[in-house]
Amino acid sequence: MTGNIGPIDASKVPRYAGIATFARLPRLEDVPSADVAIVGIPFDSGVSYRPGARFGPSHVRESSRLLRPYNPAVDIAPFSTLQVADAGDIAVNPFIIDEAVATIETEAAALLATGAKLMTIGGDHTIALPLLRALHAIHGPIAVVHFDAHLDTWDTYFGVETTHGTPFRRASEEGLIDLTASLHVGIRGPLYSALDLEEDRRLGFDIVSCRDVELKGLGFALEKIRDRVGDRPTYVSLDIDVLDPGQAPGTGTPEAGGLTSREVLEMIRVFGDLNLISADVVEVAPAYDHAQITGIAAAHVVYELISAMATGANR
Ligand code: MN
Ligand code: MN
Repeated sequence: MTGNIGPIDASKVPRYAGIATFARLPRLEDVPSADVAIVGIPFDSGVSYRPGARFGPSHVRESSRLLRPYNPAVDIAPFSTLQVADAGDIAVNPFIIDEAVATIETEAAALLATGAKLMTIGGDHTIALPLLRALHAIHGPIAVVHFDAHLDTWDTYFGVETTHGTPFRRASEEGLIDLTASLHVGIRGPLYSALDLEEDRRLGFDIVSCRDVELKGLGFALEKIRDRVGDRPTYVSLDIDVLDPGQAPGTGTPEAGGLTSREVLEMIRVFGDLNLISADVVEVAPAYDHAQITGIAAAHVVYELISAMATGANR
């Protein structure tokens, strides 16, 4: 579609100048309406190890200045195809998790009510739960494709049910996810016991592990995602720790042996052919980052997710 307001022209204003919106896109209040709203959720009160993902949204915006308007990998100019705008941050209570979660659901629902898809930048993984609640109210049970080193289907930490290690158990218990169509990608590292995997399967998730990618190849992973999800309404929730710590050191619970950004970006391109309804990228913690390595990876993941939404809109 023509007439969309795109990023600031880099031939007129250098990329490093000006206030950072994602990819130097217009703010939501500066466009008549948006097909995709990029929204930050600076919340990290649900973390179990290193804190700091509350600074993720601003870091990813700063790290997104070099993104250009045309994506040759999928032959699309996402910001011309769709009106994409930066909706700023949802301001949430940093002390009371339940209040923060309620605020996120309300604010996400308000943005979705405008007809926009959400491209959320976290924040820790707790935020996926209220986002799925808001999306379920519109779409019913959702196929969740969860990129992460970790299952995030544990039950409680210190007796608390709502944390960054538990969102997908809560979502499953509440009936938010499609138990026949959800899966984790990039799982690796030590667990508490084999029971973790058994319970995870019961909660509705299949798994493409890092070992699967290493031993069976990227093609296997792509096919499994397609087969599992089909044409169902699909949500991508991507924890940046799915990447190897060498490619994404700036995160709270790093695990060795992760995926490369090249592999993850290719996997995301699959969603251009699927029914992608919204997405999040979470757990970027800039205090542990160096030279924007993690921020740039996250910015490219967001760009590829928006490109998939644009590809889907063109179908
Ligand atoms: Mn994780
Ligand atoms: Mn996670």
